[in-house]
Amino acid sequence: MKEKIQVVRGMHDILPEHSPRWRNVEAVLSEALSAYAYEEIRLPIVEKTELFKRSIGEVTDIVEKEMYTFDDRNGDSLTLRPEGTAGCLRACLEHGLLHQVSQRLWYIGPMFRHERPQKGRYRQFHQLGVEAYGMAGPDIDAELIFLTRRFWRKLGLDQRLQLQINSLGTVEERQAYREKLVAYFQQGVNFVKLDEDSRRRLHSNPLRILDTKNPDMQEVVTNAPLLPEYLGAESLQHYNAFKELLSDSGLSFVENPRLVRGLDYYSQTVFEWVTTELGAQGTVCAGGRYDGLISQLGGKPSHAVGFAMGMERLLGLLESSERISARANPHIYLILVGEQAGRSGLTLAERLRDEFAALRLQVHCGGGSFKSQFKRADRSGAEFALIMGEDEVRNRQVGVKSLRKEAEQIAIDQDELMSYLKSAIWK
Ligand code: ATP
Ligand code: MG
Repeated sequence: MKEKIQVVRGMHDILPEHSPRWRNVEAVLSEALSAYAYEEIRLPIVEKTELFKRSIGEVTDIVEKEMYTFDDRNGDSLTLRPEGTAGCLRACLEHGLLHQVSQRLWYIGPMFRHERPQKGRYRQFHQLGVEAYGMAGPDIDAELIFLTRRFWRKLGLDQRLQLQINSLGTVEERQAYREKLVAYFQQGVNFVKLDEDSRRRLHSNPLRILDTKNPDMQEVVTNAPLLPEYLGAESLQHYNAFKELLSDSGLSFVENPRLVRGLDYYSQTVFEWVTTELGAQGTVCAGGRYDGLISQLGGKPSHAVGFAMGMERLLGLLESSERISARANPHIYLILVGEQAGRSGLTLAERLRDEFAALRLQVHCGGGSFKSQFKRADRSGAEFALIMGEDEVRNRQVGVKSLRKEAEQIAIDQDELMSYLKSAIWK
């Protein structure tokens, strides 16, 4: 026998026993998104490499070391999308969706990052992305938070996630802060505590040092100067108004002055929904304002705010939740013994599906004895078996038997079957 080929490291199959959970959660999310009048946009999984370099920033984990980049057969450099924001904005600019109008959009799908696989961190993972364009906030920033709160409520998670917020201010304010931060990290006592990555970042992307996951650096990061102290009047006003809107709606939040996002393009509002239940990978949903990205991608300056949610982490939190785990068994399993039954059975099955739009009907294909087919029927989880053998074909009947309750098999005339099912089973 040949050796079996296995899935790519860090990537996962979603097996039939789990896919209903995904579908159910996706249905809850898309229902909530409709309630806020967000529209779905579907985007390619592959984009030009340049798009991510220009938007995410050259000196970020993603662009430096996590992208799946390859040359296609024309020699163009392409990349499997590591996130959705850049592609979404690219599409909007390309199709003129931002001309004089605001847009509220969402998308869901796989993202790819070559990270070290561990719980909650994979090389192919899924994100729900939500983006709102053309609105300066803070009202729309708050709306995104209300939307996410509605997700948690519908999924029964509202007690299990904490909202952290911060403001990154304007580009100029960040620049001033950045200088202070670099000076701080350059002081001898602090510099010796920086790991190799952080030293490299010191001049290219010092804010990212605050985002370090290295436990040995927590102290030096905790004592670093804080960004909110460098915010100007306008940024403060934006931030305060955002906080008031959250409070008005009874939302509790934690201000985390060290919250920065891993990507370069954020300004003003940033937020994360975090849990302590998933170990180190505790951020389920993260986002913020990124006005600057639009002109960075060649668009007319405007406004943008959004978030991305890690679906695997969300589903990890929902592991034990009954609310979404229901696997949909067939209602009916159709047993067909003998050649004639095999033929008329398929016709009968089509008629049943025509009649009962929501019916889940599994037809036995491939023949076999009554005994073996009943075994399969039982394993399918179906409530009832319908049975056609040679006798039933000859008598123009169908056998009906409950697979879950003790009851004798009964025979129904084929002409009566629909009305019988309506009265006795499909109530
Ligand atoms: P982290 O700090 O965990 O690396 P990030 O800042 O790289 O996250 P974003 O790019 O903001 O994450 O992505 C938004 C969300 O997508 C994260 O909060 C997380 O829930 C999810 N996510 C990011 N990377 C992965 C991954 N490799 N595997 C699974 N989920 C991920
Ligand atoms: Mg990351």
